[in-house]
Amino acid sequence: MFKKYIALSLVLVVLSGHLIAQKRPNVVIILSDDHAYQTIGAYGSTYAHTPNIDRIANEGALFKRAYVNNSICGPSRATLLTGKYSHKNGFRDNETSEFDFNQDSFVKQLQGSGYNTAWVGKIHLGEKLQGFNYFDVLVGQGTYFNPVFASKDGRKQTKGYVSDIVTDKALGWLEGLGDKEPFCLVIGHKATHRTWMPDPQDFGKFDSIDFEIPKTFYDDYASRDAAKLQEMSIDKDMQMEYDLKMFPTLEAMMADGNFKRMDKKQRDQYIAYYRPIYKELEAKKLKGQALAEWKFKRYMIEYLNTAESMDRNIGRVLDYLQEKNLADNTIVIYLSDQGFYMGEHGWFDKRWMYEESFRTPFLMRYPGKITPHSTISGKVVNADIAPTLLELASVKVPSDMQGKSFVNILNKPEAEHRKDLFYHYFENGEHAVSPHFGVANDQYKLIRYYKRVENWELFDMKADPSEMRNVYNDPSYKKIVKSMKKKLLREIVKFDDQEAKAIFFTDIDK
Ligand code: CA
Repeated sequence: MFKKYIALSLVLVVLSGHLIAQKRPNVVIILSDDHAYQTIGAYGSTYAHTPNIDRIANEGALFKRAYVNNSICGPSRATLLTGKYSHKNGFRDNETSEFDFNQDSFVKQLQGSGYNTAWVGKIHLGEKLQGFNYFDVLVGQGTYFNPVFASKDGRKQTKGYVSDIVTDKALGWLEGLGDKEPFCLVIGHKATHRTWMPDPQDFGKFDSIDFEIPKTFYDDYASRDAAKLQEMSIDKDMQMEYDLKMFPTLEAMMADGNFKRMDKKQRDQYIAYYRPIYKELEAKKLKGQALAEWKFKRYMIEYLNTAESMDRNIGRVLDYLQEKNLADNTIVIYLSDQGFYMGEHGWFDKRWMYEESFRTPFLMRYPGKITPHSTISGKVVNADIAPTLLELASVKVPSDMQGKSFVNILNKPEAEHRKDLFYHYFENGEHAVSPHFGVANDQYKLIRYYKRVENWELFDMKADPSEMRNVYNDPSYKKIVKSMKKKLLREIVKFDDQEAKAIFFTDIDK
């Protein structure tokens, strides 16, 4: 009798395992570029118009505290794929690194277990992809108009606007799959990367908004030496021509690479919108703060106009999944490769371990498994996504992945996932941000800069959420410095970051 019972149980286990295998979820990751959570309705922006991104939040979970390990384009994608920090997957910075596609990735694991896999759009990790049944990716950074794509058949230009084309290609691939499931599709958007080039149909949508100047816009960077050296100030570094399309003459505008690649209709639409703005600006003869604030306003408009097409195209993907009855068994993730400054500290761009670039928007919908309209406050990092998706797909997580699956907190809004967050930014080039690494917990953030600037910063995030006062040398924080250094060393050792370890032990305190 007992033997029979065991045999029956085994049959049931095998059967249910088989059923689970058949029901493995599809995965659609929509990955934007430089999209700030401050400009998303679901994250509380009052001026944002992001109905489709908000739809994912309404039907799934919004992660309040999702972070990246290295706040820059290529490295963030490398981490998403590998589940490893930059020093382990080898893609440390955009300027000197080459991504080794021979290494393992969560997509390779999914493909090996029967998933159909594809990456369409921006990847920024070269053109020799592995692990994908299909790919059609933007060459390098890609362009907003008439972009060139690279696939297994080589490079080819497609006419039109990038967010539409990327979505057309992605839906075309899904359509071609027929009933083949499961699939894993990454849709990589060019938006909202610099220089912001909106779809002309979105011109004017934010022109009348009186954007509030962030309270840290006139930051003087006192007590933060690395911040003093940066070159990402809207006032000083944002370019009137390249960024804001304010060219002194029409000829100069047309000589710019962004316009040279447009067809006549596209060019005419840009001329019709931008030339009157230039004439108006010229008449105003703005200087000093008035000009800085004009630039801030135009920056907001350019950026939000560019995001419009992306959000509209995200809606097309959600509609498609609905129409094809795929929505219930498809995990949809929306995230950016990092956060972005929308005038906080006077900046545009990213890179810093300060909150606006350290954090990223992250939304996840999985009907039946994730409570609609839920908010998750546990801290997660982008390295955690790969093991999470593998667990949800019932695929064993390779032991060398450094991320930690957050499946167990998906329906626990208050549960903690990671106590401390480790960060390491390596690039030492454009925008002059000193390389740095650090650790953050719920109250404190400790940062060690090196190469351009050699120093430490400590922030008390509860007393100073805008990170304006470095209290590293404040005697009343001596104990905190000591305990945060202990935490930092523990993270360095845990993630096996030898470069950070050597710098950590280089004593620079006088
Ligand atoms: Ca980026």
